Amino acid sequence: MALSGWGRTPVVTAEGDIPDSLRETVDDVSSPALPRGLGRSYGDASLPALGERFLETTRLDRFISFDAATGILIAESGVSLHAILQVFVPRGWFLPVTPGTQWVTLGGAVASNVHGKNHHHCGSIEHFVTELEVATPAGVRHCTPTEDADLFRATVGGYGLTGLITRIGLRLKRIASPRVRTRGLKTPNLAGLFEGFREHDNGYEYSVAWVDTLARGNSMGRGVLLLGDHEGQGTVPEKAKPPKVPGHTFFNVPFSAPHGILQPWALRLFNTAYYRIPRSGKEHTAGYEGFFYPLDVIGNWNRMYGPQGFFQYQFVIPDPDGSGAGEAGVHAGLEFLTRHGMGSFLAVLKRCGDDAVMLPFCRRGFTLALDIPHRGAETLRRLDELDRIVLEFGGRVYLTKDARLSRDTFRAMYPEWEEWMRAVKRVNPEGQGRSLLSERLGLWD
Ligand SMILES: Cc1cc2nc3c(=O)[nH]c(=O)nc-3n(C[C@H](O)[C@H](O)[C@H](O)COP(=O)(O)OP(=O)(O)OC[C@H]3O[C@@H](n4cnc5c(N)ncnc54)[C@H](O)[C@@H]3O)c2cc1C
Repeated sequence: MALSGWGRTPVVTAEGDIPDSLRETVDDVSSPALPRGLGRSYGDASLPALGERFLETTRLDRFISFDAATGILIAESGVSLHAILQVFVPRGWFLPVTPGTQWVTLGGAVASNVHGKNHHHCGSIEHFVTELEVATPAGVRHCTPTEDADLFRATVGGYGLTGLITRIGLRLKRIASPRVRTRGLKTPNLAGLFEGFREHDNGYEYSVAWVDTLARGNSMGRGVLLLGDHEGQGTVPEKAKPPKVPGHTFFNVPFSAPHGILQPWALRLFNTAYYRIPRSGKEHTAGYEGFFYPLDVIGNWNRMYGPQGFFQYQFVIPDPDGSGAGEAGVHAGLEFLTRHGMGSFLAVLKRCGDDAVMLPFCRRGFTLALDIPHRGAETLRRLDELDRIVLEFGGRVYLTKDARLSRDTFRAMYPEWEEWMRAVKRVNPEGQGRSLLSERLGLWD
């Protein structure tokens, strides 16, 4: 099969399996392959290295048990977040942490230690994973945050390198309604956005800002800060409301236009129009999907960038003591991007706390994510320059989005990598089921 991540670059050809049953999968750990879920990581984390096989988990999608007293769901790793929401939202439960799409598997979410719009309040998904079963090359292992904790901390956010996560325990959260109380605030520039975060986001569980990456001068970084809470937060309904049937795609991009649809003029038009949408700053309620998963209404939106694909560049700049380093780093990165016209139609700014896994991405500070069309060597050169700016501010790039970081830059950004790889090699000493990402970053050297 030809395989790629969501950014559609790089593309590899590889053989693999899509097993139906966990038994047959676990019995076959003698020939390990790289786990792959729904392929929503943008770069090469889910792509097998040359000569390796992949194992797609999308049919390992059974719910095993649910305890309504604790909210703990045990499920196979190929269950999608969409499937969990379909079953549990009507019963008054929600995901404790969710990325910006529901089309990821639970295993993929754990393997990337995903974060959501509430990271500054409750961290990444690691804090809600109660147990894992992992089919490693050294045998099937059970681990929890306290039992075989090193394996747990190397597997959560471990990009599939310790083996296949087969079962996951996840603590869901109680909600009183499928709707979200939300508020949108327009800000004239980046300083205004940061001020908005400081002033408002402790009062809401969720916060995220859309940034116009094409605006320059005094308007650089103008944007819209979106705040939200589950409606009726803190109360539990006597009877859960019936769900609005979720998960619809309203429009599907049928094919990849030769030069992409998202030309610079189209990006500018979109950003200006989005910024001009009137926002009263007052609260209103909306369905959870519109708030958490706005992009899911367009099927295959990644095709809009054309056959050459795109990079998603997400970086975090730490600001451990709140002295403003995070803001200065984001400002420098954005200034570089606008100067070189590397705008995006969707750039997202979030506040973060610290991750606790062995290879942490989120650091207390700010993270900015944006799509960058792949226009060849020039794009790669510019992104290398951007890496240097991120490094200057002590920042790092998110590996689940990455397809091009060099091994030296990676090592400088992630000094924890050696400790993490020591833990990986304890269960996978020969480096079986290697990903392209792991080879590119020289993790097995
Ligand atoms: C529109 C969009 C919005 C996003 N928003 C966010 C966001 O807000 N926050 C965030 O953190 N991420 C975000 N992401 C990234 C996404 O959540 C992660 O890349 C996630 O890992 C994708 O899950 P998947 O099932 O598609 O896994 P894949 O992309 O198939 O695999 C990702 C990694 O997980 C490993 N893996 C998959 N399944 C298993 C398993 N069962 N056992 C062991 N390893 C496994 C793979 O080897 C690979 O290294 C977003 C992605 C998209 C497309």
